[in-house]
Amino acid sequence: MQTILVVEDNEQNRILMRQILSFHGFAVLEASDGATAMAMMSSQLPDLVLLDLQMPVMDGFAVIKAVRNTPGLSRLKVIAVTSFAMKGDRESALQAGFDDYVTKPIDTRKFPEIVKNILNEVRA
Ligand SMILES: [Mg+2]
Repeated sequence: MQTILVVEDNEQNRILMRQILSFHGFAVLEASDGATAMAMMSSQLPDLVLLDLQMPVMDGFAVIKAVRNTPGLSRLKVIAVTSFAMKGDRESALQAGFDDYVTKPIDTRKFPEIVKNILNEVRA
């Protein structure tokens, strides 16, 4: 079973993502801030991380920077999750080192496909 870490400070969004991912057969871990997420990534080594960009303590951009600069975590697959769908956001997320980008509210039909696509992607 593949494990996905959901990092999201909004409980409702976290519950929704957990339910969708569990339904699709994934084991789900959860964190509500970036610092906790960093610790969980190191201890649990999930197959994929879904990372909210707007969070207290350490936001998503700070977390992805730390992940990409941490030996042992640098090749983790990480998808940005954000509610601000402004033009250019996708580009800045990809430039920051995210593998992909999903916007909130979560599209319950597209979301699992995006997750599966990234999990199936083979790293060069
Ligand atoms: Mg948030």
